[in-house]
Amino acid sequence: MSRVYNFSAGPAALPEAVLERARNEMLDYAGVGMSVMEMSHRSAAFIDIASRAETDLRELLAIPDDYKVLFLQGGATAQFAAVPLNLCAADSAAAYVDSGYWSGKAIAEAGRFCRATVAASSKDSGHTSVPPRSEWSLPKDASYLHITPNETIGGVAYDGIPEVDGLQLVADYSSSILAAPLDVSRFGVIYAGAQKNIGPAGLTLVIVRGDLLGRARKDTPASLDWTIAAEADSMYNTPPTFAWYLAGLVFRWLKDLGGLEAMAEINRRKAATLYGAIDASNFYASPVAKANRSWMNVPFTLADPALDKSFLDEAETRGLTNLKGHRSVGGMRASLYNAVSQEAVDALVAFMHDFERKHA
Ligand SMILES: *Cc1c(COP(=O)(O)O)cnc(C)c1O
Repeated sequence: MSRVYNFSAGPAALPEAVLERARNEMLDYAGVGMSVMEMSHRSAAFIDIASRAETDLRELLAIPDDYKVLFLQGGATAQFAAVPLNLCAADSAAAYVDSGYWSGKAIAEAGRFCRATVAASSKDSGHTSVPPRSEWSLPKDASYLHITPNETIGGVAYDGIPEVDGLQLVADYSSSILAAPLDVSRFGVIYAGAQKNIGPAGLTLVIVRGDLLGRARKDTPASLDWTIAAEADSMYNTPPTFAWYLAGLVFRWLKDLGGLEAMAEINRRKAATLYGAIDASNFYASPVAKANRSWMNVPFTLADPALDKSFLDEAETRGLTNLKGHRSVGGMRASLYNAVSQEAVDALVAFMHDFERKHA
C-alpha cells in the first residue's frame, strides 16, 4: 500500500489513524456483528456512537449548553437555504459579507427566500482580502449577518471574529472549523459541511443557539427545519450514519492529539512553512493580503503560468496530489487541513525548491 500526500480542497485527507480504526471495525463494530453502515440509526450501538460524537465535539469546541448541535445532510449548500428559512421572514432583510466564491453562493441562495443585502464586498479587489470592518454597513433591521470565515477557493480568512453591533452572527465554517479553538458564544449559528475538516462528505454540522429555534417559516421543508431536527436529536429522518461515526472518530483523534490548542499550533507551523517558502522566492507568489492568509487553503502562482502543467505533473510523480487551483482562479492551491501532516508540507516545499531550481 502506498498513500500520497493529498492536498485536496475537499473531500479531503482524513487522519490515517481514523481510517485504520474504521477498517478494523468495518465488518464487526464492537462485537455487534455488523458494520456501522448496516446498523439501524435507532439501535443502541448507533445511539451510543452518535451521542459520543456530540459529547466529544462539545468538549473540543467548548460549546455552551444552550447551543444545539445538529448532524444533518445536504452540505453547506443546503444550509445556504436553511439559514434564511429558519431565521428570516420573507419580507425581512438579512445581511451578508461577500469575501469570495462561497459568500457569493450563500448570498444568491438567500436572495430566493428573503431580502439578502450585501453589507460589504471585496469583489473590486478580486476577493484577495476580507473587506475591512470599518467599511461594512450593517442594516439595523437585519435578521442576521452572515460571514464566511474561511473562503476555501480564494484562500482568504478572517483575522478574528468581527464585532457586529448586536446582530446575530451566522458563519459558514466549512473549511476551517476545528482548525483552532473558536469562541462559539459569539455566534448565533455556525455550520459546516464535513468533507474538509470533519469527516467524509454527506454530513453537515449545525451549531445553533437554542433561542434561535422555533422561528422557521411555515413553508420551511421539514428536512431543513433546525427545530424539527433538534427535537428529534438529528434523527427526524435517517441521518448519514457512517459519516457521523467517522466524524466521531476524527473528534476522538483530535482529543487524543491534545485538542484544538494543539491542533492550532500544528496548523500554524504548517502554514508558516508553506507561506515562508512562497515569500522567500521570486518564483512563487501568493495573491492574498497577508492579514487574511488562510491556514487551511493556500493558493499560489508560478512566475510563468506556462509552467503550471509541468509543476502539477512533476508533483504528481513525487506523490504530491490535488494541487491544481480552482478553475475560477487558476494557479495552484494546497489545502492544509487538520489531517495533512507537517511531513506532507515539508515534502511539498522540498519539491517546490527543486522545481524552481530546475525551471527558474
Ligand atoms: C466546500 C464549501 C461549501 C460547499 O459545501 P457542500 O457540502 O458542497 O455544499 C460551502 N462553503 C464553504 C466555505 C466550503 O468550503
